[in-house]
Amino acid sequence: MKRGNLFVLSGPSGVGKGTVLKRLLKEYDDIEYSISATTRPSRRGEINGKDYFFLSVEEFFQMVDNNQFIEWAEVHGNFYGTPREYVEKTLQEGKDIILEIDIQGARKVRESCPDAIYVFLLPPSFSELEKRLNKRGTEDEKSKEIRLKNAREELKELVNYDYQIVNDNLEEAVEKLKAIIVAERCRVRK
Ligand code: ADP
Ligand code: 5GP
Repeated sequence: MKRGNLFVLSGPSGVGKGTVLKRLLKEYDDIEYSISATTRPSRRGEINGKDYFFLSVEEFFQMVDNNQFIEWAEVHGNFYGTPREYVEKTLQEGKDIILEIDIQGARKVRESCPDAIYVFLLPPSFSELEKRLNKRGTEDEKSKEIRLKNAREELKELVNYDYQIVNDNLEEAVEKLKAIIVAERCRVRK
């Protein structure tokens, strides 16, 4: 059986990765989403096991020691990791899966999965990125500052991605991500 495609979506905090993915997954039931583990405290409305697996630092490093992550990284002062089992199982079943991970995680996945498809979501501008983080209202001043500072560094990594999507109009960004998925499914040569 043909293995599924592995899609990786990255982009600065607040660009709209979660929003775009939620829309995509609502319309597409033939692509799976990898739920990450994190040591970051849950935000209001986030559900354990749906948005993230919220773990203590001890639990997280137990999984690291047991080689249960495909990749893990410290991002904006917290730990995040992609649980291995679900991703492997999904790909083996021939289904596509999408990871929403930061640039460090993407770099690690690139070493073991050069065939994966790497997509970078960009904000229309830095001021718009700041506006979106403010609008979401989940970060305190310090966390927001860290995220905006890191955004400038993260954008330098764009050259290592296969596709870029500017998330200006939400519907258009979702359409572009869908188009990439469809095109990659039609690809003959990897
Ligand atoms: P990320 O997952 O990349 O950190 P979110 O999906 O949480 O970002 O989006 C951050 C904020 O930006 C949210 O308030 C969301 O509603 C808003 N947003 C997302 N996409 C757009 C868009 N295309 N235009 C305007 N606001 C957007
Ligand atoms: P947030 O705290 O805003 O949900 O996510 C912060 C950052 O962590 C984002 O850049 C997001 O892509 C990244 N992230 C989420 N899950 C993972 C993961 O499993 N691995 C890595 N490396 N980064 C992740």
